[in-house]
Amino acid sequence: MSNTKIKEYPNFVTHMECSLTGEIYEAAKVQGLSKAGRPLLVRYNLKELSKSITKDELARRKGGFWRYREFLPVKETKNVISLGEVTTPLMLLPETSKRLGVPTENLLVKDEGRLPTGSFKARGLALAVSMAKELGLNHLAMPTNGNAGAAMAAYASFAGLRTTIFCPDDTPEINISEIELQGASVYRVNGLINDCGKIVGEGKEIVGWFDVSTLKEPYRIEGKKTMGLELAEQFNWELPDVIFYPTGGGTGLIGMWKAFAELEAIGWIGKKRPRMIAVQADGCAPIVKAFQEGEEHAPVWENATTAAAGIRVPVAVGDFLILRAVRESGGFAVSVSEEDIFDIRDDAAKRDGVLLCPEGAATLAAYELALRDGLVKKSETAILYNCATGLKYPMPTAYKKLNRHDSINYEAMQ
Ligand SMILES: *Cc1c(COP(=O)(O)O)cnc(C)c1O
Repeated sequence: MSNTKIKEYPNFVTHMECSLTGEIYEAAKVQGLSKAGRPLLVRYNLKELSKSITKDELARRKGGFWRYREFLPVKETKNVISLGEVTTPLMLLPETSKRLGVPTENLLVKDEGRLPTGSFKARGLALAVSMAKELGLNHLAMPTNGNAGAAMAAYASFAGLRTTIFCPDDTPEINISEIELQGASVYRVNGLINDCGKIVGEGKEIVGWFDVSTLKEPYRIEGKKTMGLELAEQFNWELPDVIFYPTGGGTGLIGMWKAFAELEAIGWIGKKRPRMIAVQADGCAPIVKAFQEGEEHAPVWENATTAAAGIRVPVAVGDFLILRAVRESGGFAVSVSEEDIFDIRDDAAKRDGVLLCPEGAATLAAYELALRDGLVKKSETAILYNCATGLKYPMPTAYKKLNRHDSINYEAMQ
């Protein structure tokens, strides 16, 4: 490796744009939210981009989301922070499909738990950290329900950057431990993720850290955008019919929607779009409420509770972008009960040997509801996002014990 020449790629970023007002911002500078307090979207010269790469060339590249370099904002290869990403597999649930009476090939789980640090947060944070390095930042901070903090800690430590992270105090213990162990300074806060976000914002002036909160910097969306590029490529540039996405801040849903627009602009896909389904939990469903009420924004959800920590997000700065994508796609937003989430996680694990995270299980619960209500047909191809490895979450205890000195009742094991 050491004496191979580092490959550089052309960069097509032209500028950034306020997602609400369209106001233009310079790309080569550190940027947070727009003046309107809304996310900035990175724009590319798509015409030039389309001339620089072919689908065949892409197919020959190995690895995970860094394969899409031309679609990404990082300029110099030395700033690309990689922890060995993979293209995440599309998995079948043969027994669950049978139970639901759905053709096996029509129900697919995109298993994002295979990414570094065990969740799809790796996509967004790899990009945010790489860009932080490229722009000369040295101290990053964020509020997190766990997985984003773990991804940021790992990528930033690899890049030699400092990180300070704030979690709600009931964040799963394993997340807090992995964050600290991977080099961050992590604090438990007696509040929710938006309360943690306030602390990050308030400390900015004094400590001088950069705020990497979801959608408050422009690059996590670009990382999550690779979910859309990857899915399109896996489907041979024809998109599936429906996507069930567990929606917290909505970065992934917004990112995929952006990916599809860019792919159509360069002529790699046609007009067909999947229906985007935003899945939330009954105990925290601000987007579902706004969707049902026909609103463009989603006010704070009071007293948010769900054990699916990744979707326990009471308020999202990108609310209108999530709602627009869902509506433009002809999709909908739906919430599922806590009981259904865990019943379905356990059932899928037993039936199909697939350990979904609770947020991923929520998408399966939502799929079942949608089938029942006729919102999705059995003949349609549905993608469920399993956004993290199920291993990070509490699991039911296995109680059976055996004393090897007693006589063993093998008949009972038949
Ligand atoms: C962050 C997260 C989500 C929500 O993702 P967004 O793109 O921010 O909406 C869902 N599930 C898990 C496991 C997560 O870590």
